Amino acid sequence: MHNERINVTKTFLPPTEEYTAQLQGIWERGWLTNQGPLVQQLEKKVGEYLGLPELHFVSNGTVALQIALKALGIEEGEIITTPFSYVATTSAILWERCRPIYVDIRRDTLCIDADKIEAAITPNTRAILAVHVFGQPCDVEKIETIAKKHKIKVIYDGAHAFGATYKGKALLSYGDIATCSFHSTKLFHTVEGGCVITHDKATSEKVELIKRFGHDGDDHHMLGINAKASEFHAAMGLCNLKYIDDIIHRRKTIHELYHKLLRKEIKKLAVQEDVSHNYAYYPVIVKDEKQLEKIVGDLNKENIFPRRYFYPSLNKLPYVDSKHHCPISEDIARRILCLPLYHDLAEGAVQKISGIINNAYEA
Ligand SMILES: *Cc1c(COP(=O)(O)O)cnc(C)c1O
Repeated sequence: MHNERINVTKTFLPPTEEYTAQLQGIWERGWLTNQGPLVQQLEKKVGEYLGLPELHFVSNGTVALQIALKALGIEEGEIITTPFSYVATTSAILWERCRPIYVDIRRDTLCIDADKIEAAITPNTRAILAVHVFGQPCDVEKIETIAKKHKIKVIYDGAHAFGATYKGKALLSYGDIATCSFHSTKLFHTVEGGCVITHDKATSEKVELIKRFGHDGDDHHMLGINAKASEFHAAMGLCNLKYIDDIIHRRKTIHELYHKLLRKEIKKLAVQEDVSHNYAYYPVIVKDEKQLEKIVGDLNKENIFPRRYFYPSLNKLPYVDSKHHCPISEDIARRILCLPLYHDLAEGAVQKISGIINNAYEA
């Protein structure tokens, strides 16, 4: 029997005609990159969609984090961060020659535990770089209070936060700067891409400069990098944006189906109060690593490939000098699995996946 491969995610692609219509325009203008008209349009439209007017489209979500650190003037020093994220959160810190200081996470939201942040602050602390894991908000109010008190900056890696809201506002609106990733595995994508969200004119201008080599004509203002997005990437984003509400709606249906079908004993993420969720991921936390391996093995036999997000806990990376112990993050990282979730995942597939997991589950 041949089963079609099911991965943890599948990239949404707009109708070919819609993309080729955009290509036609690019050919007519002959303007391929350097803040072209489609990049400008994307910044405007995505900014409107999220309610965030100062949105800077860049080449990916990792360089977005590096630009955030640069634009806030953070060079060297300690950055308080979460061990439970994709590796890019930590690599951006290291690439900017700062030192990650890991603070353990909360078991319920999987985000950094704000109550443990103050104990990690030293005179060398420059910023808190936290992640809204799987689109669940960090304790944004508590973190803001701590940051104000200690005069440090707050950056949110919002790679999972596109379209999610907290207290009626875009989750990406919190922090001195928030970033997002528009990679093809993410909820909203531009093939490769990301954005930096700012809230004041001075920071906004800095981000614009940094993403284009730090100069404006012959005036060289500061050290920059090449983080420009091209017209081809913007075109993909503009085509996809039209479908984003439908995509989120479809994912919500699948989310609810998993919730209904999976055994009660399997730990799922609770949707928090005041949150409108974006259904970007469907993580489950099982009893132990042995059970996780059994579940993965059983699913792989059926050509189904969930992903161990996030594993390992980042404080365990071989190239970070870390004496930090993050027992909660290390424990969760060993037992968490993200299940397939995408716009056209069939109900039958969700039933099959849930059945396999329920069967493999032993209390
Ligand atoms: C995907 C991701 C990134 C990196 O984004 P890219 O666009 O792939 O560079 C950073 N942080 C988190 C939490 C992510 O999931």
